[in-house]
Amino acid sequence: MDPYVLVGGGLTTARAAEALRAGGYDGELVVVTAEPHHPYERPPLSKDYLRGEAERDVAFPLDEAWYGEHAVTVRANEAVVGLNLARHHLTLSDGGTLTFAKALLAPGSTPRALDVPGADLAGVHYLRTIEDSDRISSTLLEASLEGVGRLVVIGDGWIGLEVAASARSLGLGVTVVGRGSHPLGRALGSEMSDFYAGIHAEHEVHLLRNASVMRILGADGRVTGIDLTDGRHIGADVVVIGVGVAPNVGLAEAAGLDLRAASQGGGVVVDGTLATSHPDVFAGGDVASVPSPHYGRPLRVEHWAIAQETGAHAGRAMLGAPDQYDKLPYFYSDQYDVGMEYTGWVDVEAGYDDVVISGDTGSHEFVAFWRVDGQVAAGMAVNVWEQMERVEELIRSRRKVSTADLEGFVG
Ligand code: NAP
Repeated sequence: MDPYVLVGGGLTTARAAEALRAGGYDGELVVVTAEPHHPYERPPLSKDYLRGEAERDVAFPLDEAWYGEHAVTVRANEAVVGLNLARHHLTLSDGGTLTFAKALLAPGSTPRALDVPGADLAGVHYLRTIEDSDRISSTLLEASLEGVGRLVVIGDGWIGLEVAASARSLGLGVTVVGRGSHPLGRALGSEMSDFYAGIHAEHEVHLLRNASVMRILGADGRVTGIDLTDGRHIGADVVVIGVGVAPNVGLAEAAGLDLRAASQGGGVVVDGTLATSHPDVFAGGDVASVPSPHYGRPLRVEHWAIAQETGAHAGRAMLGAPDQYDKLPYFYSDQYDVGMEYTGWVDVEAGYDDVVISGDTGSHEFVAFWRVDGQVAAGMAVNVWEQMERVEELIRSRRKVSTADLEGFVG
């Protein structure tokens, strides 16, 4: 029989390979990744690994030996450039083809480029791969040892704020340039944006709002600062750009697989088993637009847990398991001594009723609940641990929960 082929070098394919072998699949299994590594995950790349506090191993969910021990072939440094559904084959960047019985597409995302002059200067970085993290890390650590260094982060999303926290912890001067009125505002709304802005202010990060970068300046090919459209200049020794990512749907699109409309989050359409519009091709991770039974609409989520869980689910589904994916979105973030976990989903742009706090935001220990139509749609626990199951139970119950009950959640 032709092999099962897992496309992508992230956590999704690692978990799928694991689930396939655990589920008894003993046929040929191949992972194809454009990167020079076996599959790895990204959360450490903006946190402890970036700060030089963790070894590389921390990013690898399965060590290299696992693949050999489980007869999984990893074809590294090979991009998949074509998918022929009728013939069940993939075209690889070296010109070869690989025929599959079933395939999982988990090609992840590509950072959005910031289209301003100077973005190609030395010292200007994007953060996506381990190598990106290594480059930024060595620059930050060097600056930290010398007791100097000014970092400008362009973008006030998750990469922007996590990198800012890491660099500040290393002693660099940090400015974050946000184009909107609220850092993390699109993800969390204004209330919890204000909380995170407050934390960064406590650590003397300069958070700029409603700011637009006109150009990045350099001398001798190296970055020296940025100019904003309002005339301000900010000096910089290093710049990190984190202005979002675009899911890599090109392969699926060219093959003729169904894609979700941009108005519904985009991505590759899958059903509850994570099968695409072709029954032998599955999709997971950032690219998958997965029906959510709870929220009654498809969700495409760009976070670690979706990679972890859709990978495992797709692996089981490739073996015929009929169960429907029904996880609530989950993610976490660590910034300074503020650890948080979030579960649920809120369309911030469409609006929500309110955010109710249980605990004390001032002491950075609380749970925040987003209510929509009186029901809890999402919850975020900050420095309060082992509450996610209770939060999830509240969300799934669809109960209308009173403000007093929510405020009393953390006893
Ligand atoms: P992100 O979290 O989606 O944030 C993108 C940020 O860039 C937003 O603040 C956005 O502002 C801003 N932006 C977009 N275009 C811009 C432009 N032209 N100029 C200036 N700012 C611009 O994406 P990210 O921070 O780049 O992270 C990349 C991916 O990694 C995301 O999928 C993210 O979820 C994931 N990630 C997750 C975690 C975690 O779960 N803890 C940590 C790191 C990264 P507007 O909102 O105003 O558009």
